[in-house]
Amino acid sequence: MIAPEEFKKDVLMLAKEVGVNPREIYIQTMKRKWASCSSRGRLTFDKELLNEPEETRFKIILHELLHLKYPNHGKMFQALLDTYLKRSIDLDLQ
Ligand SMILES: [Zn+2]
Repeated sequence: MIAPEEFKKDVLMLAKEVGVNPREIYIQTMKRKWASCSSRGRLTFDKELLNEPEETRFKIILHELLHLKYPNHGKMFQALLDTYLKRSIDLDLQ
């Protein structure tokens, strides 16, 4: 398990990578999903994510960050998610 501060650091690091600026980052218990993103740029992540492996965390984080650019799950969204996901894993291997 990682600390919430570490998780937030990862969110900010990935936000820079994507080029978005989340206003607020919350970590709390969520019942039905991993994360959510408000139209005002507030991201909320499920506490349980702290127990997930890095790859899963990054995937969920990037997914929400990209919603700050694209509110839907269209082709652009999916393509960018794939790109950033690969890049974040590459960064990690360096
Ligand atoms: Zn989504």
